[in-house]
Amino acid sequence: MRAVHDSPRDAPTLSVVVPVFNEEEVLPVLAARLRPVLDGCGEAYEVLAVDDGSTDRTPLLLEQLRTAWPRLRVLTLRRNSGHQAALTAGLHRARGAYVASIDADLQDPPELIPDMLALARAEALDIVYGVRTDRSTDSRFKRRTAGAYYRLMRRLAGSYVPAQAGDFRLLSRAVVDTLKTLPDQQQIYRLLIPWLGFPSGQIAYRRAERAAGTSKYPLHKMVLLAFDSVTGFSTVPLRLATAIGALSSLVCLAFLVWALTVYATGNPLPGWSSLIITMLFFGAVQLFCLGMLGEYVARIHTAVQARPTYVVARDTGEEER
Ligand code: UDP
Ligand code: MG
Repeated sequence: MRAVHDSPRDAPTLSVVVPVFNEEEVLPVLAARLRPVLDGCGEAYEVLAVDDGSTDRTPLLLEQLRTAWPRLRVLTLRRNSGHQAALTAGLHRARGAYVASIDADLQDPPELIPDMLALARAEALDIVYGVRTDRSTDSRFKRRTAGAYYRLMRRLAGSYVPAQAGDFRLLSRAVVDTLKTLPDQQQIYRLLIPWLGFPSGQIAYRRAERAAGTSKYPLHKMVLLAFDSVTGFSTVPLRLATAIGALSSLVCLAFLVWALTVYATGNPLPGWSSLIITMLFFGAVQLFCLGMLGEYVARIHTAVQARPTYVVARDTGEEER
């Protein structure tokens, strides 16, 4: 039961979650574009900016923005926990009947949020994905790697994963509440949300260039995301180890038979180089498989520790209640 003094502001129709990490250049531009859109859509809303442990002037700017924009709520995390953890924090704390998530850098157009809301209501959808039809403003490398990522994940996790749907989307309260019940610690929402199986729709858009500042997603974070995606949604790599093992045994057996036959015909094989190559090859295969196993063991390790993915330092929304 809600307390009697709760005003309708406590449960807005729409929450917009924006993870921000060192985005001092982009924040003023974001506010200038997001606010008119939301003010104009005629719904009670809150913007939940999740400060993911920024070390630049981001906290200060958020504070300044908030004085002039009471619907801006700031959730500060104790330290940098990563994009997905920041999203998790935002989703956990958002109060809206619908929750949209959008990156701070304006690569995704905020103008689409009211359209997403309208589509969700008109067709009774629980999820509306923003799908990037044109990524020509992303670097070639980013496009290629992103293309490969979605192909791989659709293959491994299942075709329910929509291609080119990133973290710009709208969720209903039902989806958010379901997500909250999942103990999953390495949430990769672009895979986890489709996996839930709620009725969903899509809105296509052109991905713009970053409005200002630089990408907070360097190559090593992209590789980590790919690893977490694969180990979180597929056990195929583990089976692969079995398959590689079985295949190599067969090849070895064939070699053995061949070597014995040659030996029987009285031609002992000189074999130093083939021997060393074979040894190194199998050494490598074993380490590779061990490494893959390690990835899964690491996930179990993290799950057993059950540490929270983020720690909240401050929530201006709580202070106002
Ligand atoms: N971000 C975050 N924590 C991080 C890295 C990024 O909250 O550790 C935020 C960032 O501020 C932005 C969003 O996540 O709002 C996406 O990051 P970015 O635009 O740098 O990624 P890219 O679009 O280059 O993949
Ligand atoms: Mg970006």
